[in-house]
Amino acid sequence: MKTHFGTAGNTLSFFNSKFGKDTLNAPEWINSIGLNAYERQMTYGARMKKEDALALGKNAKKFDVQLSVHGPYYVVLNSKKADVRGRSRTELLKTARLGKMMGAKKIIFHPGFGDDISPIISSLKKIEADRPKGVFFCPETMGKMSQSGSLGDVMEICEKTECKPCIDFGHLHARNLGSLKKEEGFRKIVIEIEDRLGKTVLKDLHCHFYPIEFGEKGEKKHRAVTEKNVFPRFEPFAELIKEFKMHPTLISESRDSQDIGALQMKKILGKLKYS
Ligand SMILES: [Zn+2]
Repeated sequence: MKTHFGTAGNTLSFFNSKFGKDTLNAPEWINSIGLNAYERQMTYGARMKKEDALALGKNAKKFDVQLSVHGPYYVVLNSKKADVRGRSRTELLKTARLGKMMGAKKIIFHPGFGDDISPIISSLKKIEADRPKGVFFCPETMGKMSQSGSLGDVMEICEKTECKPCIDFGHLHARNLGSLKKEEGFRKIVIEIEDRLGKTVLKDLHCHFYPIEFGEKGEKKHRAVTEKNVFPRFEPFAELIKEFKMHPTLISESRDSQDIGALQMKKILGKLKYS
C-alpha cells in the first residue's frame, strides 16, 4: 500500500500543458508532475461516453494513477421529495458504473441536507446490491451546518451501510468553526474513525485537503495553500499519518492550485521520511 496524492479535477496548469487539450489525458499529466491520484469531477452530471470512460481508465492504468470520481451535486438522498431521492439513487448508480469502466473504486457524494440521515441510509441500502463489484460509495463530510455530513453523520452512514468515508478536512474545519488549527483536532478525527470503522478503513482513508474560509454557518470558500494564515495546514495531519501508519488518498482542492497543494503534501510527508 502507498499514499496517493492528487488533484480534484483539472487545474489551470493542466490546461496550459501539452496534455491539456483533452481531459482524458489528465492521468498522464498527473504522472508527469509527480502525483499519482486524480478525482474525476462528475459534479454536474454522470454524463460520459462509455468509450471515454474506458479511455480515461486506460490512461490512468498506463501512468499508474489512482482514479476516484466525485458524483453529481444534485444527489440528495434525504430529500423530502420521493422523485428527487429516486433520481439521486439512479445518478449515483450511473456514476458508479462509469467509475467501474474507469477502474475507479471510490465514488464520492454529498449526502444531503439537515439532521435526518435515516433516509440517506435507506436510500443507500436500496442501491448497494446493484452497484458494480469493488466500487464503494463514499459520503463526504460537508462544510455547511445546514448540510448532512458532520463527522458523526458520515461515521453512522458507513457503520450502517457498505460505504467508506470521504473525510474533507477543510469542510470539518469550517463546520466546526476552526477546529483544525492544531494536531489535537486531527487526532480526534483519526481516533473516531479507527474506533468506529476500524484500522483497515483508517489506513485506506479517502481525504480532501485544502485551507478554507468560514463564517457562522460554516463553509464560505476554498483558499489556496500558497496563502498565509489559512487553515487547515497539512503538517499536523502528516505527523498522524506517519504515527498511525496510514496510506491515505489525499486529494487537494486548493483554490485554483490543486496541483500545488498535492505536491506540497507529498513534500511534507517526504520530509518525515514517510510515503
Ligand atoms: Zn465534495
